[in-house]
Order: sequence, then C-alpha cells, then structure tokens
Amino acid sequence: MTAINFAVIGYGGMGSYHIHNIMPNENERIHVVGTYDISGERQKISSQHNHKIYHSLEEVLKDETIEAILIATPNDSHKDLAIQALKAGKHVVCEKPVTMNVEELDEILNVAKETGQTFMVHQNRRWDPDFLITRELYKNQLIGEVFQIESRVQGANGIPGDWRHELKHGGGMLLDWGVHLLDQLLFLVDSRIEKVSADLSYILGGEVDDGFITYIIFENGIRAIVEVGTTNYTKLPRWYLKGTQGTAIIHDWDLTGEMVVESGKQDIQAPKPIQAGVGLTKTMAPPSEEATETKALPQATAEYDTFYKNFYNVVREKAEPVVKNEEVRQVMVLIEEIFKTAKR
Ligand code: NAD
Repeated sequence: MTAINFAVIGYGGMGSYHIHNIMPNENERIHVVGTYDISGERQKISSQHNHKIYHSLEEVLKDETIEAILIATPNDSHKDLAIQALKAGKHVVCEKPVTMNVEELDEILNVAKETGQTFMVHQNRRWDPDFLITRELYKNQLIGEVFQIESRVQGANGIPGDWRHELKHGGGMLLDWGVHLLDQLLFLVDSRIEKVSADLSYILGGEVDDGFITYIIFENGIRAIVEVGTTNYTKLPRWYLKGTQGTAIIHDWDLTGEMVVESGKQDIQAPKPIQAGVGLTKTMAPPSEEATETKALPQATAEYDTFYKNFYNVVREKAEPVVKNEEVRQVMVLIEEIFKTAKR
C-alpha cells in the first residue's frame, strides 16, 4: 500500500482538523507532506508540527512528490484552487461548500473530466452518528414509512469568524450548515424534488443569512423541513421524524432520543379528553397507554468506507466514490433554488 502524499491548502480551523484529527486515522493511505497558507502566522504554527511549509500555490503544484491537495480555504477560493491543482495533475479533496454556485462547480467538473484526476468533496456529515441513526430508522422502516423529516441545527452564538460574515467569500449559514443538512437529506431520500419554499433570516443585521428555514416536498410525497439558526437560546430537536407507525426524535449530537411506535395491541381504549389550558381536548390527548410503546433508537454504523479510505480506493483502484460529484451538484442546484425562492 503506497500512501497518497497530500499538501493542505489553508491551515485554518478545518485544514488543521483534517491534519490532526481525520487524516491520522488513515495513516497507511494518507501522508501529509506540508501546508500552504497565505497567513504567515498560520504557516508558523504549521511549521511547529514539522510540516514542510510551501510559500506559494505554484510551489505546491510544482512538487512532484505531491499527488493530492486538500482545499480548506474560504469558499470563494475553492474553484480557482481546484482547477489549478487538477490542471497540474493533482487529485483534489475539497471542503464544502464545493463552490459558490453550480456554474463554478461545472467548471471544475469539466476540468476533472479533461484531466482524469479525482475530485471529491468532503461531505463528512454523512458519517455523523445522528444521521446514521436516522438513515437506519428510515431505511428499515422502524417507524413505518417516513413521510415527514425535520432536520435542524440551532445555536446562540451568531456567525463565528470573519469571512463567514461576507457575501464575497460565500459567507452565511445556507452555504455553511445548510450544505451539510441538505446533503444529508438528499442522500437519505431517493426521490426528485417537486417543490421548495424558503426564507433566509437576517436577524443579526449582516449582509449574509444568519439562518434559514426551507420546506421541501419530494415527488414521492415526503415532506422535509430543514432549519438552521444562530440566534436560538434554546433549541428544537436535531431530528424529528414522523412515520406511518410511529414518531422518532433525536434531541442532539449526544444521541438522546426515542421512538414511539404503535403497539399493535387490539381493543385499545379511545383516548380520554384532557384539560388543555382553559379548554378540553380529545384530539390532542396522549394515546392511551397500551396503544404505543417507547423504544430505544437503533444503533448505527456506516455501511460504506470512511472518507479518506474511500478517496484512496477511488484514486488507486477506481472504486466508486462515496461522495459522488453528481450528488454534490444536486445539493448546489437545491441551494441556488433556495436562494432564488427566498428572494421571490
Ligand atoms: P478558517 O478561516 O479557519 O481557515 C481558512 C484558512 O485559509 C486561513 O488560515 C487562511 O489564512 C487560509 N487562506 C485563505 N485564502 C487562502 C488561499 N488563497 N490560499 C491559501 N490559504 C488561504 O476557515 P475554516 O473554518 O477552516 O473553513 C475553511 C473551509 O472549510 C471552508 O470552505 C468551510 O466551509 C470548510 N469547513 C468545513 C467543515 C466541515 O465540517 N466539513 C467545518 C468547518 C469548515
């Protein structure tokens, strides 16, 4: 097994996370040679980890020992970096969002096709345990056929960092967390989209969206609500799914939650009316005790290779990529539609 020699472009938050937290898990397959960052300060920190320090992109691309680069720079720089690297004969791993829009992505994909180099986008949240549980629930119909999916992430700290506040760098939450949640949704639901409506929020008063809510109707009838917020001092569950035989909730990344499913018992008493506020309701009363049972969430592991293992197999053995460029493109098409529909 010959490891793929990588250079990392952008040794910021995510570039260093790749080097110190993700790539070491695949050290037989991936070897980090060095880094290039436009910030002298970041270069200095990188040199303390014994990385080779490159002083320009050209220097990286001329280095024949480098087979692949990781792009972990602000979003507006991905396209040019990717195209230059592919043309220089390097394989490319690119952070999400792949580009600012579909047109930019198509330019990259054309060059990847021409050069025959591998181009793969790091949609890492396909391996998040909360998503894997959701996928298990969905595929094995543990709450019957799922017909409503609600996927949310909500914080109270506004938008972090600097470039994430600026339109020209591709800031805003739709191009940030939105990409992850929409990628998960499209990876989960195997159906074309029929309708999309959306609203972006500008509560913090900046030029980029600080959150959004979108309602998506798939051709197979499934409805999805995807919501991202950065001004939520208390939050709604990470996942809420309704199926024909039950409801599931996953509260957070700590994976607490449950499934409440029909018990299937016969001769169940009708629910009794309850006092609700200053009124009475039977409709909103909980089901009688025998009608449902509460179950633990399923265990879940990915049935596909980890990202870098798969990248290695794609480059060395022409394996099928676990993150396909056509899937990444579908997410960008949806994001463009969300921007447009929110404006309308
Ligand atoms: P960051 O600001 O922490 O780091 C970016 C680094 O890139 C900085 O050190 C900056 O000096 C450097 N840089 C900027 N332009 C450059 C250029 N042209 N050439 C070389 N270096 C350059 O940002 P970040 O949080 O690390 O985000 C980087 C990318 O990673 C973004 O696309 C972001 O969306 C993505 N990201 C992905 C995840 C994930 O879970 N997949 C998480 C965080 C960030």
